[in-house]
Formats: sequence, C-alpha cells, structure tokens
Amino acid sequence: MSWTDERVQQLKDLWAQGLSASEIADTLGDISRNAVIGKAHRLGLSGRPSPIKKKPTRGATILSLTERMCKWPVGDPKHQDFHFCGKTALTGLPYCAEHAAIAYQPSNSKSSKRDEDRSVGAA
Ligand SMILES: [Zn+2]
Repeated sequence: MSWTDERVQQLKDLWAQGLSASEIADTLGDISRNAVIGKAHRLGLSGRPSPIKKKPTRGATILSLTERMCKWPVGDPKHQDFHFCGKTALTGLPYCAEHAAIAYQPSNSKSSKRDEDRSVGAA
C-alpha cells in the first residue's frame, strides 16, 4: 500500500488526537501497526503533545492502561489507591523514561562496579 497525501494527513490527525498506532492502523486499513509507527517517525510525529487523557485521576488503572503507557506499578496492589504510572512509554518499552532507567539498571549495582568492569575487560 502507498501513502497518499490523504492518508498521510489522516495519520497526522489521528496521531495528534492521541490514538495508538494500532488504532490508527485499524482506522486507515490495509496497513500494519509497524508501518504506522515507521511513517509517524519519518514525519517527525513521535513526540506528540499530550494524548487524550481518559481519566483525570493520578496514574492509570489496569483498565485505562494502553500499550503506549508506562506500566510501572505504584503503591501496594492490595490497597485501593494502587495504580500504574501511566506516563507515555518509551518506544518498544513498557515504561516511561524515568521508570525504564530504574527497571533496566543492573540490579546489583555498586558505586565501584564500573571500575571493576573496566579492569575485567582489560584482562
Ligand atoms: Zn513511569
């Protein structure tokens, strides 16, 4: 399938409205979610302003989470105020920048770890 001016405009509109790539793909039809993401990136749409917020409450519940939202759990799951971060997730990751940094740092990191790694590499 090819990107006509009309479809590109539609993509821009839907993207600006905060629809997910898969929702946009469904709307445009005859296109994969990945193609939508790729096109959006080429158009420079990756950093969109503020997606439509379905709930004004803090964070997100399991029901309001979308694939584009940070799934970092906040609070105790046994408590009623438990929720998910809900910020815009990094592309390809389930977390926002802040929580991805926490999630993907070495679990056993000590302040001297980096120096150790360097000397091991030299040997
Ligand atoms: Zn987060």
